[in-house]
Amino acid sequence: MTRRKLIFASNNEHKLAELRQIAGEKYEILSLNDIGCHDDIPETAPTLEGNALMKAQWVREHYGVDCFSDDTGLEIDALGGEPGVHSARYSGEPVNSERNIDKVLRLMKDVPQERRTAHFRTVIVLLIGDEMHTFEGRVDGHILTERHGEGGFGYDSIFQPIEADVTFAQMTAAQKNAISHRGRAVARLMQFLNCEQ
Ligand code: IMP
Repeated sequence: MTRRKLIFASNNEHKLAELRQIAGEKYEILSLNDIGCHDDIPETAPTLEGNALMKAQWVREHYGVDCFSDDTGLEIDALGGEPGVHSARYSGEPVNSERNIDKVLRLMKDVPQERRTAHFRTVIVLLIGDEMHTFEGRVDGHILTERHGEGGFGYDSIFQPIEADVTFAQMTAAQKNAISHRGRAVARLMQFLNCEQ
């Protein structure tokens, strides 16, 4: 069976690995590097939806291919939904996950357990033919008071989903994908594309 090619508007190796595992056999997920795109694609929209659309439209306009892009944010209730769309650069430039985590832990130092609720939200925008489709995935959980685990990336070591008693950073990739925001959004994308899991 020839695998259908889909361009994922990203070069993030962690995300590509997660996506390729979720997409399985039926789709070959190509990155921006794979299609020779080394552009610094603007991500300046004020919402996750806007940023995902911006990236997909850029790739469509410049490379003329069907593609999808995603944007994810960690939305923490006690911080009024922050870091949200600012998740990657929450502690400023250059992007540094450890400093982002330090900032969250500092800001939440006095927040009691019951108010440490948060969720990750992923929005995927697919541009295929003349159509645009949006898919969303969300996972609810808590922000811990210190890091636990070595795996994953970003805020994984301080986020514990309600379905588990460990953080994302303490799970295998398969365990995380099964319940994660991105896993859920991608599952909806794959369902739409008629991809058997
Ligand atoms: P992006 O839109 O997927 O690039 O995500 C923006 C930022 O959100 C990343 O730089 C990470 O800090 C954070 N993030 C996204 N997905 C995850 C995840 O699965 N675990 C932990 N942090 C994540």
